[in-house]
Amino acid sequence: MAQNFQSIQVISAKRKDMADFDYESLLERAREKIPTDISSKRRWRLPPPQILIEGNNTIFRNFKEVIDMMERDEDHFFQYILNEFGTSGARDGPRARFKGRIPPKRIKKTIINYVNTYIKCSQCSAPDTHFIKEGRTTLLKCQACGATRPVRL
Ligand SMILES: [Zn+2]
Repeated sequence: MAQNFQSIQVISAKRKDMADFDYESLLERAREKIPTDISSKRRWRLPPPQILIEGNNTIFRNFKEVIDMMERDEDHFFQYILNEFGTSGARDGPRARFKGRIPPKRIKKTIINYVNTYIKCSQCSAPDTHFIKEGRTTLLKCQACGATRPVRL
């Protein structure tokens, strides 16, 4: 009996992991490399993008919520998405609207690319970073380990 109970626990734990895997795996794996005292300070979990296709437009319903969590410039993130899909769009309160039908999966992938490029520390993978200026170069500085790397904004 005890054994049966245990195996059920394992299966349900696995299922939960699988459901989150695509979007979260990148950040989850990043956390594994960080010593626990650092990673437990700030658990970082982006809200999944809520995407709605309306006619020939794609609505990113919680655009503001996602960018607020990232603590980056809204316009920069918005422009990044426009460039990525070679489209035009408009901000509309908490939402953003893009011309064309963009599959939600591709928007998720774009967010992950943005995180990798402009947020994640390349040394320790922590998301606690900010930009600093050094002459004409912009650097991404990590608050967890102190590492810097140049970024192009
Ligand atoms: Zn770091």
